[in-house]
This record gives sequence, C-alpha cells and structure tokens, in this order.
Amino acid sequence: MGKDTGFLDYKRVENGNIPPLERIQNFKEFHPVLDDEKRREQAGRCMNCGVPMCQSAIKLAGMVTGCPLHNYIPEWNDALYKGQYDMAAWRLLKTSSFPEFTGRVCPALCEKACNCGNPVCNDGAVTIHDNELYIIEKAFASGYMQPEIPAVRSGKKVAVVGAGPAGLAVADWLNRRGHNVTVYEREDRAGGLLMYGIPNMKLDKKIVQRRVDLMKAEGVEFIFNADVGKSFSADELAKNYDAVALCCGAKKARPLSAKGVENLVLENSGLMFAVDFLTQVTKSVVGLTEAQDRFSSDLVITNKNVELSLEKKGISVEGKDVIVLGGGDTGNDCTGTSIRLGCKSVTQIEMMPCPPTERAANNPWPQWPKVLKVDYGAEESIAKFGHDPRIYETTIKEVYSKEGKVCGVKTVEVEFKMIEGKRQLVERAGSEKDLPADLILVAAGFLGCEDYSAQAFNVELSSRNTVLTSSSEEYQTANEKIFTAGDMHRGQSLVVWAISEGRECAKEIDNYLMK
Ligand SMILES: Cc1cc2nc3c(=O)[nH]c(=O)nc-3n(C[C@H](O)[C@H](O)[C@H](O)COP(=O)(O)OP(=O)(O)OC[C@H]3O[C@@H](n4cnc5c(N)ncnc54)[C@H](O)[C@@H]3O)c2cc1C
Ligand code: SF4
Repeated sequence: MGKDTGFLDYKRVENGNIPPLERIQNFKEFHPVLDDEKRREQAGRCMNCGVPMCQSAIKLAGMVTGCPLHNYIPEWNDALYKGQYDMAAWRLLKTSSFPEFTGRVCPALCEKACNCGNPVCNDGAVTIHDNELYIIEKAFASGYMQPEIPAVRSGKKVAVVGAGPAGLAVADWLNRRGHNVTVYEREDRAGGLLMYGIPNMKLDKKIVQRRVDLMKAEGVEFIFNADVGKSFSADELAKNYDAVALCCGAKKARPLSAKGVENLVLENSGLMFAVDFLTQVTKSVVGLTEAQDRFSSDLVITNKNVELSLEKKGISVEGKDVIVLGGGDTGNDCTGTSIRLGCKSVTQIEMMPCPPTERAANNPWPQWPKVLKVDYGAEESIAKFGHDPRIYETTIKEVYSKEGKVCGVKTVEVEFKMIEGKRQLVERAGSEKDLPADLILVAAGFLGCEDYSAQAFNVELSSRNTVLTSSSEEYQTANEKIFTAGDMHRGQSLVVWAISEGRECAKEIDNYLMK
C-alpha cells in the first residue's frame, strides 16, 4: 500500500474531459491525462484492502462485479504511487494482454466494486481505469514495451479465426508459449470491433495498430481479407493446423421489424445497422489519417472531410434527422458520431424504462449499479441540442418512405404487462407520434454469431446462437481440435471479457497441444 492515509488525503480525480462543444469538432480522443504527480496521488488512494473486491469478478444477483481479468490492482497501484513504473507495467501485464484497450474502453467493473467507493466510505472509487491507462502508456513511451520473441518454438501450429480482442488475446498468449500462430481476418486490418465498431474518439485506431505491429514483431502472422467459410476454406484450416480458435464475434444484428421497412428498396435507403455505419465512418477517418501521415502533416482532418468521404459511399448525415433505435452503448456511439457529422437532430429510441439515477434498494454495492448513465454522446447532445437524445418506453411502429428512402417514422409508447401469466410488451393506446427521419441506425442488440462461420466448422450452436462448449468456462467444442472464445462463445459482451476468454481459451489450447 503506497500511502496509508492516501484515501483520506486525496479526493478522486479522473482524467479530464474536453468540453462537449469543443470535442465534437473532430474524431480525436478527448480525455487529457493527469500529470505524473496527480496520477501517483490517485494511485495512493488505493487501500490495499484485505479483500480486494476490485479484482474479484464475482457474480452477484446474476451480474459480475470486479475485474474479469483478476488484475493485480492493489499491487500496481502501489508501484505506481512509488513511481516504480516498470514494476507497475510488469504486474499489470501479468494478467492483462492489452491494458491500452481496456484503459480506454472498459466500463471499469473494478471501480464499481472498489471499497473506497462503497456507500459508507462514499469518497469515490480509486481511479483504477485511468491508472491502468497511465501505466501502459508510460510503458510504451519509456521503451519498456519491446517485442518479446519466444526463445524456443514448439513446432505446433494454431489458426485463429477473427482478429478482435478475443482472437488477439488467444494469439498473443499462444505465441508467447512458443506456438506458431496465424490469425485469419476477413477485414482489411486487425482489431474486430476495437477497429471497426468502437469510434475513433473512444479508441484511436493507431493504438490498435501499435499493438498489432508489436505482435507481428513477436512472430504472430496475420492474413487479412480472408473470410473463412466463404473466400477461405475452413476444411483446409482444420487439416493444416494442430488447433483452431474461432473468435468471430457476435455480429448478427437484431433487425428493425416495423411496418414500411419492406418499402425501402434502394441500397442507400437511409436504414442501416449501427455497426455497418460506424465501420464506414471509421474507414473514412482511418483513410484520411493515413493520407495525412503519408502526404502532409499540415493537412487538418475536419468532420466535413469525413462527411464528404462518406457521401462517396452513399451515406450522408449532415443536415439530416437521425433516429437511433436503441438506447445502449452502441446507440450512444451512433449519437456521438452523428453529431460530429453535423446531423440536424438525433433521437435515440429505447424500449426499456429509464433506469433510476441512484441505486435501487435491491441493487446494493458492490453489485453492478443499474443506474442511468449519461455517456459522452448523450452529453454532447445535451450541449448541442439542449436535451438528452433518449426517449424511453418507446419503439418504432412504422417507417415512412418516399421513392424507397426513409422520410420519417411513427413511434409508439410501450410497456411491460402481465397478460395470462406472461410478461408481455404492449403498446399504450393513443401514444403514437410522427418524427422526421432521413437516417435510421439500428442499434437494437445482437442475435449471436453469424451462421456461416460456425457452419463452416460444423460446430453446434446454443439457443442464443453462440458456439457450444461443455460449460461457459470451457472453450473446447465437441470437435477436440476446434476451440472458441469471446462474443462468439458468450454472446455480445465487453472487451475485457473477450480478452479474458481469449486468455483462458489459449490455456486450454496449450494444454491440448502439449499433452
Ligand atoms: C459499436 C460497439 C461499441 C462497443 N463499445 C464497447 C466499449 O466501449 N467497451 C467494451 O468493453 N465493449 C464494447 N463493445 C463490445 C466489444 O467491442 C465486444 O464485446 C468485443 O469486441 C468482442 O470481441 P471478439 O473478439 O469476441 O469479437 P469482435 O470484436 O467482433 O471480432 C471478431 C472478428 O472476427 C472477424 N470475423 C468474423 N467472421 C470471420 C470469418 N468467417 N473469417 C475471418 N474473420 C472473421 C470479424 O471481422 C472481426 O474482426 C462495443 C460493441 C459495439 C458493437
Ligand atoms: S480491465 Fe476493466 S475491470 Fe479490469 S482493471 Fe481494467 S478497467 Fe478495471
């Protein structure tokens, strides 16, 4: 424990936030970090509790609280407080494959369980998430992060399908054990939803590329534009490798089922899945950034440049009324992105009721808090348009179109009612409203993995459309050579879970290869 009175001496201070109206001018990350002294003070707030709930990952009331990676949080907080940066990085990297990703995008399950943040102390959890980011970025900046090439190779070959955080974690772990790992990815670059999903302002894509470059230098091979099960034979992979890890994510999106959708006949009809929209925006941002790096560092990438690049792909947001179906995190990313692209209005439509602002009596600490979150996109909407973009207990009943393109929606309020002993969603009579709409972004959740990747390897699927293994904590399928991890195994989840599953899956593969 760095400073025994740290939690009494220092108040919680998070990394900064560029004000909403300023940050929406571009697609850059917007959390300036604290200076060295202030960050070390924050690490000094860690109490090194006898029972550090932050690293527990226990299930309470059906939800996990604490870090799924079981990061050695008190240890690295202590090292950070003492200025022992290499030691802090060494301890952090023992359990965490990619802290530079979780330090940016993890919702910090650890902090919700931190004893400093319990309602009796009520002094604010330790800034574990920001401390983690500080340690890993310091490690990259100081030269601590050098390629670690295994001294001995096992001669075993492993194919990983999918280069999202789960696939990258499998590849990283097995490569360090000395196996020869090749990652097959259908996109043009690695990262999965870290690259094409999570927007640049939350996670700069150069950070993803930096890690991929490090892994390449360590001996992991990447093959891009390889859509296994379509352009690339799954049988060949299964035949040529000693083990295969399927980490294809859970990208099958829940569609919008509303009257009028059948009239949208044109490709650029104004109805898009959220991830497809966010992918195209990121491709434009990345393309412009690469042009800037290659040709002219003076070139400023404006939001207008991004919009123009998107227009060439038939997507236009500037001056448009945007409706986002879904009030969750993906919907929030669509809101923040649409605002940057100059939309006229943005409305997020959410079926569920608005959560409470404080923990309910049946949701005590250290359970995961089921409370209203005002994330960055909502904050930006409030600053720009003067209101929270979310409308609760509402859905889209009908899509209006003109010549095959979206021109409005009819919404209706909904509520859950017990009917004949069953909880059912019903409309509130007379609550219909018409809203203008040029673009509808569907962020209504995911229905498991895409069928073709699973079918190509002949693996069995659960009723949730995830790849079946003998238990949720095991990763080998009925075919002993084929393993699975991440969203494809657990359903749409979080980056930290994808990394955790990837590491555990890699350990199982290693045991299988070495027995
Ligand atoms: C818009 C959005 C924002 C999110 N924001 C956050 C956040 O802020 N914080 C957080 O913790 N979580 C967030 N999540 C969830 C998180 O991104 C996922 O849980 C995580 O990326 C899952 O990792 P994965 O490796 O299992 O799958 P993915 O990241 O989906 O990666 C799967 C990869 O497999 C590839 N692939 C699929 N099929 C094939 C095939 N047949 N052949 C070759 N390659 C294939 C895909 O192209 C993809 O690259 C977000 C999700 C979305 C959709
Ligand atoms: S990975 Fe997430 S839960 Fe774990 S220590 Fe980091 S921020 Fe906390």
